[in-house]
Amino acid sequence: MAGDSFFITNVHLAYSDPSLESKLWSIECHKGKVVNVTSYIKEEPSSTKCELDAGGGVLLPSLCHSHIHLDKCFILDRCDLISGYEAKIPSVYTAQPRSYSSSRDFKEAMKVTGAAKAGFSLDKEDLLRRGLKLIRESVECGVTSMRAHIEVDVQAGFSGLDVALHLKEKVRLACHVQIAVFAQEPLFSSTEDTDPGPNFHLLVEALQRHGVEVIGSAPYVEPTIEQAKKNIALIFELASRSSITLIDFHLDYNLNPNSEPLIYEVIKQARNFCNSWKADSSELFRRRITIGHATRLQLFTPEEWRHLQDAIRDLPITFVGLPNSDMYMQGRSQANQPLGAPRSTLRVPYLSDKYDLQIAMSVNNVENAFTPQGSVDPLALCTFGAAVFQAATKTDIQILTKAVTITSKVAIGQTNVPLDLFPQPGDTADFVILHGIRTLRQAVLNPPHNRTTIRNGIIVACRRTRRWSAVQKLHVPQTITPISWWWYMLFPICWPCLLINWVSEPHVSTYRQPEELEWDEETT
Ligand SMILES: [Zn+2]
Repeated sequence: MAGDSFFITNVHLAYSDPSLESKLWSIECHKGKVVNVTSYIKEEPSSTKCELDAGGGVLLPSLCHSHIHLDKCFILDRCDLISGYEAKIPSVYTAQPRSYSSSRDFKEAMKVTGAAKAGFSLDKEDLLRRGLKLIRESVECGVTSMRAHIEVDVQAGFSGLDVALHLKEKVRLACHVQIAVFAQEPLFSSTEDTDPGPNFHLLVEALQRHGVEVIGSAPYVEPTIEQAKKNIALIFELASRSSITLIDFHLDYNLNPNSEPLIYEVIKQARNFCNSWKADSSELFRRRITIGHATRLQLFTPEEWRHLQDAIRDLPITFVGLPNSDMYMQGRSQANQPLGAPRSTLRVPYLSDKYDLQIAMSVNNVENAFTPQGSVDPLALCTFGAAVFQAATKTDIQILTKAVTITSKVAIGQTNVPLDLFPQPGDTADFVILHGIRTLRQAVLNPPHNRTTIRNGIIVACRRTRRWSAVQKLHVPQTITPISWWWYMLFPICWPCLLINWVSEPHVSTYRQPEELEWDEETT
């Protein structure tokens, strides 16, 4: 093979068959594609062969952020959160059945984030630094593609977009940063407006930028439900007028049984445009509508789920649950209820299994007012999901893993998506290797820190623990059990030895104090 070949050896694969899962494998890649998967046979290292010995770790398809905010990450230090669990829905919002989450906490998050956003254009270095940190840490976790939502509105202007386009180019070897221009703010300025305001016109302008691949909005922030529906229609129109084939809505972000589920408005609008999309079958194939949050759907009865399933039919719709945000933000107005506030996020294993819906999971936010907790690691969502969904069977584990790998890649409209969690010839060689474990179950229930990220058959990140442990290096002296004094009484010839022992070393060995120890750092 030519120099473009790359071998990953001594690795476990996520087969569902236990006899295959317990074996070790070798994967041969050529020019970024898998060409062969064979049983591992230990060989002497060769200087002519480009090889990564995975040391028996587990290889998975690389991870994907199907929904993450690149511009408003790591800004918690400038967001003062005061509402907490005491927050109440102001009466002005409870009087009318609004479609969106209108708790004071959400308003507060919008407000403090809005203030932070107003400073984006003044400090692009800060935007660049935070965005790069998010991408770098993500790639080190095993992420090789992401949908990055970038807000364009009168507060942020194009500052976030300018920086994101720069970052997209800068990191393209390691990660595909798919940029979604996103209207987090209302497109309509007031309840009386029938035409969209300046935020909409900025969005139209943003779509002209080279490198923008997705358009998105959050209809639930509009002043009225009618304007929320117009918001959806405007986004579809914009996408159909441009070369953009990917649409993303933050939708139905509430747990209010009286609110109208706007997913049906999305389906209606999609059907309106579907015929023109279908005129060119390849166009429909490239189209994808992604729905983030959708917590309102959690209140659906089985009949309502089946109705939704029928309504979606052949439409290219994928849901993305955002557990960290959904659980943190929802239900606070009912904090004094028995068992506390109702909180919920799309039940990924249950709904995938029952209704055959495609549901990905994603991180959404890192360190901001909408989601102050959690890391960038998509696998951490699987661990969280095992508890929240009470899902740890073999099937659950596979669905959860797919939610942050394969299904997430489908959700962002990626076309080179593997068919399963184990590699097959023809797959793109985008992988994460999890070191120090042997099974997929461990990868989900207790994911390891040490990882290697591979994109297009090239190692793009390597994350290792620098281990430093008092336990590991604690000096335990070898002690010899002293002979009891009465043994000497049986053999008078040894009495001098008894006397010598008595006056020499203490009988009990002592440990050195920790501060006297010389600590070693070990890299594994
Ligand atoms: Zn979001």
